[in-house]
Amino acid sequence: MTRRIVVLAGGVGGARFVRGVREAVRRAAEAPSTSADAELAHAQIDVVVNTGDDWWLAGLRIAPDHDSLLYTLSGQNDEVRGWGRLGETERVSAELQAHGVTPDWFTLGDLDLGTHIARTAWLRAGLTPSEVSARLQARWPLGVTLHPATDDEVDTSVVTTAGDRLHFQEWWTRHRAAMPAARFEQEGIADARPSPGTRAALAAADMVLLAPSNPVVSIGTILSIPGMRDAVLNAGAGAAPIVGVSPIIAGAAVRGMADACLTAIGVETDAAAVARHYGARSAGGLLDAWLVGVEDEPLVAGLRADGVAAAAVPLWMRDLDSSAALAAAALAAGLEHPRA
Ligand code: GDP
Ligand code: CA
Repeated sequence: MTRRIVVLAGGVGGARFVRGVREAVRRAAEAPSTSADAELAHAQIDVVVNTGDDWWLAGLRIAPDHDSLLYTLSGQNDEVRGWGRLGETERVSAELQAHGVTPDWFTLGDLDLGTHIARTAWLRAGLTPSEVSARLQARWPLGVTLHPATDDEVDTSVVTTAGDRLHFQEWWTRHRAAMPAARFEQEGIADARPSPGTRAALAAADMVLLAPSNPVVSIGTILSIPGMRDAVLNAGAGAAPIVGVSPIIAGAAVRGMADACLTAIGVETDAAAVARHYGARSAGGLLDAWLVGVEDEPLVAGLRADGVAAAAVPLWMRDLDSSAALAAAALAAGLEHPRA
């Protein structure tokens, strides 16, 4: 029976992790050495992609986390810069900025613009974001299936402690999350629903993994879609274990600005605090298992006392091998903690 693995993911941390999951599954099939490998070989991987950073710019629909996953998993991302397309140029963006159509703090690469124009054209022709995503993946087969978490358009705003309100992208990209945030607001979230592909993948899942993505504006945004939390808890008719991987190592957000987001919602930047924010399933939360870094091994006992099967493993995703090893540890944790 083909196993089905569902990963909830944001952009950069999510893409590195999903690449690791894909590789761990590939290796399990290529050189099976344990019973876990036999279980995981040829598993199908579905990714529920955060849509909370999506926005309109210059008349184009931009989906940053989706496209980070698309480019990383199809091997077209700029590894050195860490985002965007390989061999990217910015001639069109310079024109748009000279026209004053786009702000100088948000650059759209020429190749990347091709994706945004295609997406917008298809949306204008009546396709849903999920259908647009499927077309992009048809051109660049990924070996996993991406699903926008929702097909409903929900943009995120940030209200700062000084009372200013700005689009998430302006706060994140222009101000580098440096203006203390009081809260995040998602316009229209009450009417949003998980996308059809997301619902179907979760219903059939054997395991759910929470990527080491931003717990607030990536995983938190996915889970805030009405119906999503229940769909995750009831994944595989309630039998799918939920395994989370900490995006915080030794009290720091290793890449990105998750600390600024955690502070805004009153959660300490700490691997155990993030696990407690998600909560143990036995205490009304989500988690069956949680992986922290080897640096955070002292946190494991306390988390186990809370009812979460915690373990300490190397958490840095430096390259394909380290990402695959982390993914294999998460998959093993799921297999070791099946739900009755
Ligand atoms: P974004 O949408 O591009 O912000 O990316 P995500 O939400 O997927 O993930 C961003 C978070 O991933 C960062 O704030 C880090 O906390 C985490 N992260 C990035 N690289 C690593 C890594 O190598 N290991 C782990 N455990 N977490 C990471
Ligand atoms: Ca993001």
